[in-house]
Amino acid sequence: MKNTNTKNVTLKNVIREYVSPDKKTFRAVNDISLEIHSGEFVTLLGPSGCGKTTTLRMIAGFENPTSGDVFIGDENVTAVTPDNRDTAMVFQSYALFPHYDVFNNISFGLRLRKLKEDEINKRTKEIMELVGLKGLGERLPNQLSGGQQQRVALARALVVEPGVLLFDEPLSNLDAKLRVSMRNEIKRIQRRLGITSIYVTHDQSEAMALSDRVIVMNKGVIEQIGTPNEIYSHPASVFVADFIGRSNFIECKVRSVGEGVTTVDMYGKTLEIQDTAWQNRTAGQTVTVMARPESVRLADQGVFKTHINSSIFMGAMQEYICDTDGMQIIVEDYDYAQHKAYSEGEDVYVAFKENTLHII
Ligand code: ADP
Repeated sequence: MKNTNTKNVTLKNVIREYVSPDKKTFRAVNDISLEIHSGEFVTLLGPSGCGKTTTLRMIAGFENPTSGDVFIGDENVTAVTPDNRDTAMVFQSYALFPHYDVFNNISFGLRLRKLKEDEINKRTKEIMELVGLKGLGERLPNQLSGGQQQRVALARALVVEPGVLLFDEPLSNLDAKLRVSMRNEIKRIQRRLGITSIYVTHDQSEAMALSDRVIVMNKGVIEQIGTPNEIYSHPASVFVADFIGRSNFIECKVRSVGEGVTTVDMYGKTLEIQDTAWQNRTAGQTVTVMARPESVRLADQGVFKTHINSSIFMGAMQEYICDTDGMQIIVEDYDYAQHKAYSEGEDVYVAFKENTLHII
């Protein structure tokens, strides 16, 4: 059941301005250009107010860019109304018709398109089976759980076989466990159909779990576009590193630069760090080195000394919060059963697992 109609999406220098209550013009989306490939699952990720929803709504046609162009497939749709764009949106609020049963909610778009009755029946039943709603066709929305209502909303968007599927924080109203199982369902269905999907969320784990590529936004601009692994392991900025998981940031001086390697001075110790941006470094410069908490080890020997302020058992790991000259170091030890545990108040050394440091 592949969707053969799936399309790519291109934004070219898209700007969206609003007038704030004090009559000042500000840019909610500030000159965004990007290309989403056909069949790709992309999330727009960032804190509240960074312009994700506005970007999604401009792709759907619910908002118009102040300037710039939106393409769906090869067509410039900037001036095309939402109903004439080849997109379907799954909303956070589900937006189901309360007096229609599940079957009629899902088949609504097919009736609008005036398909034959037996075609409507066939396609609606297929989609209901795909999203796990088989046998629930005659229920009204208020006789469904939140998760089931979200499945109806998803089925209703899928049944019209749109070129692009848009999701506006669709899982926000579900509890934590259901969110995880629904996101796995969405991923499974998207893979099966191969449909281009653009998904707005402020939840980094949701973005990591779902996406082929993540677009991290901040204050109306794109901070970084990359696979979940790229943005986690090689964040382009402190903002991205901080937003995607927890991080330690350590200021260091560059000692020397070689091909693919930058050598830094970290608290008097010399460390070689693999560095794809080595050409941008110069000796003497101050750089920020990022170490993920799971890449840090506490040991009797190491790079620099630290003081353990707290040592907390979290089940899957032992977490240490340490302090070195006012700089906080977070350590997550997932192998705590394998080696020595340290206690609050101890002075120990910080060491790093091999090839895990990254210069921002
Ligand atoms: P996000 O989805 O990342 O939370 P939005 O795209 O909804 O962010 O909003 C980006 C910015 O634009 C916010 O500062 C928001 O208050 C503002 N904004 C969004 N819609 C409007 C509007 N219709 N009128 C004025 N300001 C708006």
